[in-house]
Amino acid sequence: MLTFRTLLFIVITLYSLPSQAEWVSHAFDVMGTRSKVEFEATEPKSAQDLVDKVVAEMHRIDRLMSPYKSDSELTFINNNAAKHPVKIGQEMFDLLEYSMHFSKLTDGAFDISFSSLGYLYDYRKNLKPSSVQIQTLKDAIDYRKIHLDKSRQTVFFADPRVKIDLGGIAKGHAVDRCIEILQAAEIKNAYVNAGGDSRLIGRKNDRLWYIGVKHPRDPDKLLVNLPLEEVALSTSGDYERYFEESGVRYHHIIDPTTGDSAREIRSATILANDSTTADALSTSIFILGIEKGMALINSMPEVSAIMVDKNGKLFVSQDMAPAH
Ligand code: ADP
Ligand code: MG
Repeated sequence: MLTFRTLLFIVITLYSLPSQAEWVSHAFDVMGTRSKVEFEATEPKSAQDLVDKVVAEMHRIDRLMSPYKSDSELTFINNNAAKHPVKIGQEMFDLLEYSMHFSKLTDGAFDISFSSLGYLYDYRKNLKPSSVQIQTLKDAIDYRKIHLDKSRQTVFFADPRVKIDLGGIAKGHAVDRCIEILQAAEIKNAYVNAGGDSRLIGRKNDRLWYIGVKHPRDPDKLLVNLPLEEVALSTSGDYERYFEESGVRYHHIIDPTTGDSAREIRSATILANDSTTADALSTSIFILGIEKGMALINSMPEVSAIMVDKNGKLFVSQDMAPAH
């Protein structure tokens, strides 16, 4: 029989146990890339449910936005938006609108209609468009041909050759959504990554998070290893998806002015408050190059950049440069 003293003992012991928090980490493949979620679970019992929710969210966004899935909302837009305005979901509309914001901000360097020509590249099969195809399709790359109607929530392409692809912004969006899911579950310390896009909240065991940026030419080396807090980080590189032909590297970041891979930069990293912004801006400054790219970032408060140019020279935005 439990006496009052044993009951009291049990109650006191329960209250004095160390906190039940434990770190959970899970890596998985989605959107053609390796992804990871890591967080300090305040309630270890529901930690696995939370991991499942994050994984499901990434797959949901992939099913909506993949250009490779015949039943995605993005494919539906590409197949129909040149015929008539297509009614789309709120999430897609908002991301298209935000993409257009970056097109205007970068004078068309960031342009989701790059795919009008870009779809002819296949980096796994070493395929690229011919110079004739580039000449005939290049002017279909033009964000001004994408018409968004906010009141009707529709998208219309003013040119039948226009195709869009959200590869430069969708992973960042997915990372932000996953962080929101964790925050809604009262998680204070977490890290979510999808390929080159990461975002972290809180701390890692009372210390800052350390996030490494890959060296663009030496896979065994890090370019930098940054101590970070409450930030999103995105790296665009010419070394993730590419093939070489006659000594020329064809990779997945397309300069809309040439229809060819952007070749001034090897790696561009952005630090920003959210992943969607960081993702779009890393792709943008990769195309803009050092001078225009850094001028843009230096004009944006709360955004920083680290870039490596085609000669391997390192550049950082003003806020990261040591004071003289
Ligand atoms: P990842 O994290 O996929 O390596 P990035 O953030 O560097 O990618 O973006 C590269 C992707 O952006 C490409 O795979 C393509 O889908 C898309 N993209 C390429 N060129 C452009 C462009 N000029 N504007 C917008 N998106 C682009
Ligand atoms: Mg990007």
